[in-house]
Amino acid sequence: MSEVLLSIRNLKTHFYTEEGIVEALDGVNLDIMRGETLGLVGETGCGKSVTALSIMRLIPSPPGKIVDGEILFEGENLLEKSPEEMRRIRGSKISMIFQDPTTSLNPVYTIGDQVGEAIRLHHHTNKTLTWKRVVEALRMVRIADAEERATNYPHQFSGGMRQRAMIAMMLSCHPALLIADEPTTSLDVTIQAQVLMLMQELQRELGMSILLITHNLGVVAETCDRVGVMYSGNVIELADVETLFEAPLHPYTQGLLGSVPRPDRDLDSLTIIPGSVPSLINPPPGCRFHPRCSHAMEICHREKPRELMVDEGHMVACHLFGSN
Ligand code: SF4
Repeated sequence: MSEVLLSIRNLKTHFYTEEGIVEALDGVNLDIMRGETLGLVGETGCGKSVTALSIMRLIPSPPGKIVDGEILFEGENLLEKSPEEMRRIRGSKISMIFQDPTTSLNPVYTIGDQVGEAIRLHHHTNKTLTWKRVVEALRMVRIADAEERATNYPHQFSGGMRQRAMIAMMLSCHPALLIADEPTTSLDVTIQAQVLMLMQELQRELGMSILLITHNLGVVAETCDRVGVMYSGNVIELADVETLFEAPLHPYTQGLLGSVPRPDRDLDSLTIIPGSVPSLINPPPGCRFHPRCSHAMEICHREKPRELMVDEGHMVACHLFGSN
């Protein structure tokens, strides 16, 4: 699991609004290894989804624009690809599933037609072979009576089945990277677990990498190999899951983990991170977390902390560590 599949370097994505420039990504660095599940966590508005949409080159423009950085996929910079080349990459090499599958499935076509369309587009198969692959893909995501179910319309599927149909659609193209943005948030808890388990099984079978975007730390603990924590447009800590949960270093990560109820933890011991997420229009200078940080020093107000490898595979961006 040591080969880098996708490498994001100093990615800056801004949105030009009437209120001012929203600096949604402020120099994101992130590597996704072949075959791993990398979790990306953080509060709403921290830049997780903007990172995903930037990788897919689906940032609405205007008002959005990637203003700096590189996204190297299998060694090639996606930011230099033409719209046509990106269309080919999306779906064939990098696929994305969204929170709400109903927005991605067309209500007037059958599930089979829609999964088949994805297969036909990428594999140029004839009608008979396409249908065979549709049924295989639906079986792969454990949809019972796949042949009959393929003739159903989205409204005849439950929420969990729709999400599995979406996964079938994405996987039928055998992507090297699957980006899943809160893929189970709209589902109830037992269905969430089933969908996540399915994604893990398929990952093992197909050897793909997954970038899992979620605000649910329990999901990360159960499914990810490594996890990156985002705050206000930056990845501020990254480590393997055990290390991050056992020995978080960044004050924000500590606060985030300390705020999650656990069976072995007294409710009184839960911590609350004071203050709220800063505005991304004129964000605080230096470390963007400094207005909420009880460890903030003078340097934190004026200098952005560098990313520092404190241990093998454990990165933290905070002035408490190293000589920034
Ligand atoms: Fe706190 Fe300073 Fe570290 Fe930011 S850099 S998290 S303000 S100690």
